[in-house]
Amino acid sequence: MAPYSSRPIPESTGASESNKKVDALHGLFQRQRQAYQSEPYPTYEQRTAWLNALEAMLDRNEDRLIAAVTEDFGARGTVENLVAEIVMPIGAAKSARKSLRRWMKPKSVSTPLYLLPGKSRLEPQPLGVVGIISPWNYPVQLALVPAAAALAAGNRVLIKPSELSPHTSAVMREIVADAFDETVMSVATGGVELGQAFSTLPFDHLLFTGSTAVGQKVYEAAAKNLTPVTLELGGKSPAIIDKSADLARAAKSIAYGNGFNAGQTCIAPDYVLTPEPLLRQTAAAIADAARALYPEIDKTPDYTAIISDRHFARLKSMVEEAKASGAEVIEVGSANALHPQRKLPFTIVVDPKPDLGLMQEEIFGPILPILPIPSLDAAISHVNKGERPLAFYWFGEDSKKRDFVLKQTTAGGVTINDTLVHYSQERLPFGGVGKSGIGAYHGDAGFETFSHMKPVFQQSRFASSGGLFPPYTDKTTKLISILRKII
Ligand code: NAD
Repeated sequence: MAPYSSRPIPESTGASESNKKVDALHGLFQRQRQAYQSEPYPTYEQRTAWLNALEAMLDRNEDRLIAAVTEDFGARGTVENLVAEIVMPIGAAKSARKSLRRWMKPKSVSTPLYLLPGKSRLEPQPLGVVGIISPWNYPVQLALVPAAAALAAGNRVLIKPSELSPHTSAVMREIVADAFDETVMSVATGGVELGQAFSTLPFDHLLFTGSTAVGQKVYEAAAKNLTPVTLELGGKSPAIIDKSADLARAAKSIAYGNGFNAGQTCIAPDYVLTPEPLLRQTAAAIADAARALYPEIDKTPDYTAIISDRHFARLKSMVEEAKASGAEVIEVGSANALHPQRKLPFTIVVDPKPDLGLMQEEIFGPILPILPIPSLDAAISHVNKGERPLAFYWFGEDSKKRDFVLKQTTAGGVTINDTLVHYSQERLPFGGVGKSGIGAYHGDAGFETFSHMKPVFQQSRFASSGGLFPPYTDKTTKLISILRKII
């Protein structure tokens, strides 16, 4: 195995525009690696300065970033822009700064009797160069929230944002270059080829946020270098309404969770399971809630557009397929008014057939299937038949049923009696399970993801020097039988 400093970087093959970008990326990676090697343990002060620079960069460039994201989407809700793209990354930098001293301290670990008076601890250590591949749906947040954690952990950071949000990617490249030395943090922009080249670099950790299909390819590429990965993927996240729920409140939370960013959120409720007798009532309550949240949905800039014509066509055809199958479809907003803006009505599909596209794939748009469920067991088996979801929502006041459902199903994260909120609770780890992801970040989990928590055992000079050393005698055997009892 090649030593760390010479772990090979794949070579590009020619002088095309895309190969030039790949060569530039390799050069940048190499310079970051050298910078890490010459300063493998940035001080508390240094890391604090990086986090301050990140926060100041976001403050200074808020208007430019919001304008770029809005241009990429065509129309983007004000709150989606402000809260998701500016406040959340600033919050991540601020809370990392507040926790940094505690995070950087060695963590003491208790030592078993037979190793006393030795001492044990975990010493957090930067990993080196961290790669971040981010998607278009929250293009600033999903690049810079993990970056804040990686910088706090003392790493160098290289970001590859999505080609589907090119205006935001270009602004991020420029403002990061302005705020940081390229060997501390840098943004590389380009298309899928650059993404592929990026994922083959021998990073010390790679965090990918995106679809499960691309996540699999990134995992394969990273495996060639034994690069550890965090994969933040997608999937179909269910919302279960129990008959003990306050239906109007549940409907409002679900409409909010699905309407936010027009459903283009990895943890948006993807479908709703409701007790059979409440099917129509649930559909009507969610439609009413959506009307109340977006009273002028056809005109308001607060209702977000779909990112591209291709994504729009996919969602539109899902709705057409549902209509053609005879399913009842309730649309909040007028398709005639919304479609030319590349927006979809907030669409509820009542009791769709299981073979429809919207029941097979992650929807990732403002379309909400509602299914009648005869019993709690049926709800659990419906969820467990699918891939493990990224998020899971339960609405109800019956705590016994709630605890039962939580134990019988598996999901990346859960919010009870609301949607999306577990994500914004920065102190809870965020990540998927099974096909919705590997690993987690946010808060303490983010710092640990981007650190090597190095186990250190410090021997005492009073430790017994005989112990289990050869030559072995009867005394050794007796000592082993005592040890067997006390360990
Ligand atoms: P995507 O997988 O198409 O793209 C994600 C990133 O990967 C982009 O930067 C893209 O350029 C890059 N890429 C594409 N092909 C690549 C390849 N072969 N090798 C390396 N990189 C490549 O995802 P998307 O459409 O941008 O985002 C939507 C998906 O992301 C949804 O499935 C959603 O659920 C998921 N998502 C998950 C989270 C999470 O935190 N778990 C957050 C947001 C979105």
